[in-house]
This record gives sequence, C-alpha cells and structure tokens, in this order.
Amino acid sequence: MSKTNQTESQQLLRSIPKVDEFLSWVSHHDAPLRVIKKVVRELLEDVRGTILAGKDCSAVDLAKQQLLSRFDHRLELLMRANFCSVINGTGVVVHTNMGRSLLPDVAMDNILAAGARYSNLEFDLVTGKRGSRYALVEELLCELTGAEAGLVVNNNAAAVLLCLDTLAKNREAIVSRGQLVEIGGSFRIPDVMEKSGARLVEVGATNRTHLVDYEQAITDNTAMLLKVHTSNYRMIGFTKEIPLRELVELAGRHGLVVMDDLGSGSLVDMTRFGLEKEPTVQEAVADGADVVTFSGDKLLGGPQAGLIVGSREVIEQIKQNPLNRALRIDKFTLAALEAIFRLYMDERVAVSSIPTLAMLDANYDVLKRRAARTVRRLRKVVASDHCLVSSADVQSQVGGGALPEQGLPSRAVVLQPSTCSLNQLEKRLRVGATPVVGRVMDGRLLLDMRTVTDREVPELVTAIATVFTSF
Ligand SMILES: *Cc1c(COP(=O)(O)O)cnc(C)c1O
Repeated sequence: MSKTNQTESQQLLRSIPKVDEFLSWVSHHDAPLRVIKKVVRELLEDVRGTILAGKDCSAVDLAKQQLLSRFDHRLELLMRANFCSVINGTGVVVHTNMGRSLLPDVAMDNILAAGARYSNLEFDLVTGKRGSRYALVEELLCELTGAEAGLVVNNNAAAVLLCLDTLAKNREAIVSRGQLVEIGGSFRIPDVMEKSGARLVEVGATNRTHLVDYEQAITDNTAMLLKVHTSNYRMIGFTKEIPLRELVELAGRHGLVVMDDLGSGSLVDMTRFGLEKEPTVQEAVADGADVVTFSGDKLLGGPQAGLIVGSREVIEQIKQNPLNRALRIDKFTLAALEAIFRLYMDERVAVSSIPTLAMLDANYDVLKRRAARTVRRLRKVVASDHCLVSSADVQSQVGGGALPEQGLPSRAVVLQPSTCSLNQLEKRLRVGATPVVGRVMDGRLLLDMRTVTDREVPELVTAIATVFTSF
C-alpha cells in the first residue's frame, strides 16, 4: 500500500462512527436491543475490514445515510423469520423439501386445540386413569386398513427401524437385492436395518428375484421376509418381483414373519387419478403381511408420521419395545392424524378435502383456467417488454418417491424475461418476500398451477410484479 493510500485509510478508519454513536441514530427501532447491537457491530466491523483490506471504499460509503440504509437492510434480513411459506410452482405434489403434504382445515383446527389447551392425550376420560396415546387413532387405523392392530410413530423410517428391531434383532431378514433402496436424505434401507441389529440377507439379482432365491436363503436364524417398495425408482425390462401373497405363503411354511414397507402407502387406489396401480395398504393387509409400514405425509396426505399395522400378536410385541418411547409421535401429529383418518371414512370426502389428494385429482380444465386467470392478471402488472407471460401444457409429478415415471397433465404459467436473465428471475423469485419456486426448462420459467392454490394466485402475481419493478 502506498503512503498516500495509508493516510487515506487512516482517515477513513477515524471517520467510522463509534458503536454508541450509531446506536443513538437507530434508537427509534423497535427491534430487540441485542439484535440492533449485533447488526451495528457487524456492520462497523465490515466497514473496517473493507478499509483495511484496501478495497474500494470512500467517504461517501461512510456517510450517515449510506450506513443507515445498510443497517436497515441487515436488520430486516435478521428479523425476517427463517421459516416461511413458499409458493410451490414445481408441480411436485408431495415435495419433500417443501413440507410434503398440506393439511386440511379440520386437521389444522385439531393441531391448534392440541397446542392451546389441555387434552386427553394419555388420559382415559371414562376410567379416569392413564390412557394410551395410540388408542386415539388405533381403531380408526384398523377400520380403514382392515388390520387387527396398529400403532403410530414419528415417521416411516422410525417405523421400519422399530419393526426390524422388534422382529429381527440379531437374526436374519431376507430382502430382494432389487428392493435395497435409497430414498433421499441418504436414508438407505440397508443402513436402517443394520442399526436395528437385524442381519440383512440379500437375495436375487438386481433386476430379478425368484421365490426359490428366498427359499434357499432361509436358515434356522431367519426371522423375516422383508418386502420394500421401490418408491423412487422403477425397474423396467426384464424384471421380476415376488408378489406379497407368495412371500406370505412361503413364510407361513417356515414360521417366519413378513414385513412390507410400503413407503408412500396409500389408502386410495391411484388409478382413480389416472395413475398406475399401486398396492394400497388394505391390499397389503389382505394379502397377509404380518406388519405393514407407511408414511403419514406422503400419499396419505397427513402429518409426518410412521404408521404400522398388522396382526395383533406382532403389533403387541412392537408396542412393548422400549425403543417405541424414543420414537413416539407428538400430540400435534396425533391430533392431525385423527382428523385425516376420519376424512378417509368416506373416500369422496377424503379426495375432495385432503389437499394432496385434491391436487392429484385436479382436473386439467380447472388448472388451465387457473393458469389463464393468472396470466391475465400478470399481463396487467408486468410490461410485455420486461417479460413475456403465457401458459403451456406441462406434466406434474406425484413426488414423495411415489410413481416416479408418471406425470399428470397440467398447465403452467410461463415467464420469459427480457430485462434480466432466466437465472436472475428464478433466484429473485426464490428469495423474495413471498418465495416462489418454479422450474426452469427450455429457456423458460414454468409455474405449474397444480400445486398453486387459487388463494395463492394474488400473492404469486404480486411476487412476480415486484421482481420486475425492482429491475
Ligand atoms: C419414504 C420412505 C421411507 C421413509 O419414510 P419417512 O416417513 O420419510 O420417514 C421408508 N421406506 C420407503 C420405501 C419410503 O418410500
């Protein structure tokens, strides 16, 4: 650094306001004092750092107005909640990174009551004695699935762990090589099995497993035949999986239990949405699985939970496992689950009122009208020389690791910006006051209307308009 530069920097350093002085400028802010102090300290340290590093910094940058505007910006970022609502324009209905399933109002009402008031969570109102939290939903779960007994835990990964720990600890569980899946977030079935202390015996080839493969692997130490739904990938071509019923028959001859991890586990036949046939929970139970596990917040459309149903004897064993206490479901989830189960008592009601199912069920014409309405509103607030707004046919995805190969015909709002790049637009929408997440495809930003509710359309329009007024 040259001599003149050095004196310049020293002058600049001397002109940085003291913390107390800065605090007196911003004493009118109603943010907590510790937050204000933190922002001031960090801001002044930054300024000092910039000067010391010899970076471009002038007296103008140190002017009071300049510093105050930087302060306001930082304070706003710090005070903004980390957790916020997002408009999901991806068209992925069960979007794991965006909270999977949305809950219907009746479930939200129950959650509110569970939090704000005392409840009979573990209190039997008839006997006045301690009750079981599972009792609140077990009967409904059995009624809906046809199972003899059931329980609920924190999520399906916990359900799988708990079942294996109870039924196959220090023993062998036989599973087809083609079903050793990783389901995202580095959750791998073999790793969970290992944690449970069950020894995994893989049989068959990746693409084909025969009944005799299972049969030949059975030893005195075998406890279980395990079937895992290959949720998020699909094998096509020369493949073979053994139907659950045949596994049940084989297990019966050798005194083994059969566990079916259904993953998404739906109570509704997916063909009614124009999707491919998926085994329902009821079918897995009817086919004779001793225990079936599935998620609460995938295709079921409820809160995060792991649902376990099966024979009375096996479920009773699982309930006695001390691990159960560590994996237990909380009261909010339980309250929401009961509401969801009650909606399923009438499938038509479930499909129309559970958002996940209603979105899968949404008719193309409805989505097309929603897109057209959004486009009309957008054209009023976004100049066409800033961004071209149109609509186009797209395919929505079920998500949640279910039915990976299949799309649902849908309609998207299409944005083609001219005053900024596509990536800039995508990012600005993502970090705005109401974040909007879409899909960039073929030089366009697509916002699939299947996962945007009518209620969100005005917010969406404002969010997009804001981006273009700030460019
Ligand atoms: C999603 C999934 C799980 C895990 O379920 P979570 O509820 O996310 O814990 C386990 N097994 C399969 C096959 C899955 O698809």
